[in-house]
Amino acid sequence: MRYQRALVCGAGGFIGSHLVRRLRSEGYWVRGVDLKYPEYEKSSADDFQVLDLRNWENCLTATRDIDQVYNLAADMGGIGYITAFLAEISKNNILINAHMLEASRQNSVKRFLFSSSACVYAQSKQKSENLTPLKEEDAYPADPEPGYGWEKLFAEELCRYYYHDYKFETRIVRFHNVYGPLGTYDGGKEKSPAAISRKVAQARDGGEIEIWGDGHQTRSYMYVDDCVEGLIRLMASNHREALNLGTDEMVSINHLVDMICNIAGKKLTKRHDLTKPQGVRGRNSDNTLLRKVLGWEPGTPLEKGLAITYKWIANELKKKESKKEADELAEVAGD
Ligand code: NAD
Repeated sequence: MRYQRALVCGAGGFIGSHLVRRLRSEGYWVRGVDLKYPEYEKSSADDFQVLDLRNWENCLTATRDIDQVYNLAADMGGIGYITAFLAEISKNNILINAHMLEASRQNSVKRFLFSSSACVYAQSKQKSENLTPLKEEDAYPADPEPGYGWEKLFAEELCRYYYHDYKFETRIVRFHNVYGPLGTYDGGKEKSPAAISRKVAQARDGGEIEIWGDGHQTRSYMYVDDCVEGLIRLMASNHREALNLGTDEMVSINHLVDMICNIAGKKLTKRHDLTKPQGVRGRNSDNTLLRKVLGWEPGTPLEKGLAITYKWIANELKKKESKKEADELAEVAGD
């Protein structure tokens, strides 16, 4: 029997690295493509190609002899990053998505999954920290996050148009905040659970921690193993419309900080910086359709997923610190 051949775009990134490993363990032949190799561990892909997917020819190369495409490649980051670079992010992602869809169609790919985001939801429906959880139809009338949200919403439409015009099979997932080991935790692209874990790990017990906004803003968070499970289930399903993939365990940022401090066994005072971007006031996933379509929903409790993530980030920071000390010693010895 011929193995199913899957392409993971964005395989050098956070969710992509986990997805490659999972697909391999299920017997898929996997090609990974990204601008870069994974930062924290070697990719498990059978074939890993460093390609810029904004480029049309590269998209043709990437999709050759492939059955399923998981398009996770995107220029993205946390709220600080996506609110700072509207034109650059939009241009990059529009190019990736338009070229990847067309190249996949021309190369007779059987299924194409596009990773959208909860940033497509209408901002007017997310003005309260106790908002009604967002159902898929709440993306319309359109009022998404500037830049990143608009390009994601249009790429969702483009997927629908490819089915309309060509009967090209597309799947659309709307992630709500994914976290876990192997996620970026510094450098400006990190998201809240990773950023807070880093700050807690670096703070001395009894010290201070800086929080963006007043901390009453709310979100829900999904552990990366659940995310990967949901992706594989959605790809196998017959559902062509956009689907939420997240948890409905909503917490405030202040609560998230308390949970991470508890895990670390540290008592820290929160210093709220109201000048920093904080995104919509509240966001939560309505999982009614998710449960119906996939017969399943993400189940890892936040406390459990955060404990694993915090441990991984604290350990990465320790490794970096030891390497820095060793480099300094080597430099002194070399003088
Ligand atoms: P990530 O930044 O870790 O991974 C994205 C990868 O895409 C990166 O490795 C990056 O190098 C690669 N990439 C960017 N531009 C490229 C290009 N021109 N050519 C080839 N590769 C390119 O992010 P992630 O968290 O793994 O997110 C994966 C997908 O899920 C993205 O589409 C993102 O928008 C979406 N998403 C993620 C979250 C989340 O919480 N992590 C939430 C909503 C949506």
